[in-house]
Amino acid sequence: MLLNRLDVLRVPLLGAFLRWRYSRFVLQVPLLLLAMIAVFDGLTGRQLAPSNTATVAVWVHYRGLVALILAIFGNLFCAACPLMLTRGASKFFKRFLPQLEYPKALRNKWLVLGLTALFLFSYEFFDLWASPFITAWLILGYFIAALLADSIFPVGTFCQYICPLGNFNFALSSSSPSQIMARDADVCTACEGKYCLNGRIETRTTRAPVLGNRSEHVLLQLEPLQTLPVGTFPGCETNLFVPTISSNEDCTLCLNCVRACPHDNVALALRNPLQEAILEKPKIDWTWFLVFLMWGGLLNAFAMIPPYYALAAWLSTVLGTRNEALLLLLIMTGFLALGFALTVLAARATRGSLRAWVGVLYPLALAAWGGHYLFHFMTGYSTLLPNIVNAFIRGGLPLEPLPSAAIPRLDTIFPFQVFVTYLALAASFYVIYRKAANQETDARVIVLKMLPFLILALIISTITILIFAQPMQARGSLLQ
Ligand code: SF4
Ligand code: SF4
Repeated sequence: MLLNRLDVLRVPLLGAFLRWRYSRFVLQVPLLLLAMIAVFDGLTGRQLAPSNTATVAVWVHYRGLVALILAIFGNLFCAACPLMLTRGASKFFKRFLPQLEYPKALRNKWLVLGLTALFLFSYEFFDLWASPFITAWLILGYFIAALLADSIFPVGTFCQYICPLGNFNFALSSSSPSQIMARDADVCTACEGKYCLNGRIETRTTRAPVLGNRSEHVLLQLEPLQTLPVGTFPGCETNLFVPTISSNEDCTLCLNCVRACPHDNVALALRNPLQEAILEKPKIDWTWFLVFLMWGGLLNAFAMIPPYYALAAWLSTVLGTRNEALLLLLIMTGFLALGFALTVLAARATRGSLRAWVGVLYPLALAAWGGHYLFHFMTGYSTLLPNIVNAFIRGGLPLEPLPSAAIPRLDTIFPFQVFVTYLALAASFYVIYRKAANQETDARVIVLKMLPFLILALIISTITILIFAQPMQARGSLLQ
């Protein structure tokens, strides 16, 4: 059965570029260079967040653009991830280091959830956004962790089971408009090699090399045929098998599958961005990671507005402690516990499982993270280029410093955040309706089934807008 969708890989020029063997490398190199400049500037430059490439690139630009690109296209940040350039080095180290199976108990998303929670805590407690030095070490630590994990365990382990950033991208790309799919399911059924998963070695059959002065005629008669490898096309490193893919979970958009498939049967197809939210019933670990990202996104934004500081001050008085870690931990735990309880309660009220209903949160989570990150991007986007130029100047290049561009008025950002939140609310209402209608036929029962998640979606959207309406710390920008 042929796929009846627009395939990005068939779009002239863009498709040819994406299918090209070195397209990923071309996307990775600029980000690698940026990471190197950020580390140099972070370790040696001025330790002021808006004036340093490390803090601006990581906390303003990466965060600002990631949600936008996920919503418009898909997981391009994983596709362009410079950490994967450590693969060459990890292949080398694999010769000397013990090769281990990744423990079965860890082949899930619980570790990722724990690391993401740890990151949210550390981000606030250590003010990561304010320290170029720590940010530079964070970038270096990330490269070292990816290199170590892929040197000891099968490649792809880091992306799939360890990397909080990659899994954040996987989660938010559940609302992306593109997905890897098989072009023709029948071709996959007949395909014996499953090359998209296993990889493929392209070979050429030829005669054995001629020794001495033999004529072509003698060669054809006497020399045996031999098969030579002419190209290696790795399969999916996160163990996805194209004909069974139904979501963007674990897909880094590396496009290995496209190049490995000898039947040209892989599409990067456009899809309804709500398809995954309506149809998927993820595993329990992935479900909880998605619930965590929903409420963690609101918590992350909440920690930057005055009510958070008022709450911390009140707690400090009530408990008689000024221990910042304890107060932060209490607020985080309380906030997340409340969010988890509301979500579980809504699922219980439908008499369905959390796994079946978690898709309602996808658009809402994208709006919460996207609206928040957009704020930081809009208040600090003009600082990146001047900081890079300053780093080059300190490195000895004969350049002139650049002035920072004008800072946008903050009141232009809020209406956009509200618009995005309303859009997500409308999308979640549609998902709720489709989920209920897929389960029931009676109109009255459908409405009753919808109610708990309609209320939850309204609560989440109201909290989101209330947070956006507060004066938020413009971290990493000149407004700071
Ligand atoms: S996508 Fe290509 S390699 Fe994978 S099963 Fe289908 S035909 Fe085979
Ligand atoms: S090889 Fe796997 S991770 Fe890469 S694009 Fe294909 S499905 Fe996605």
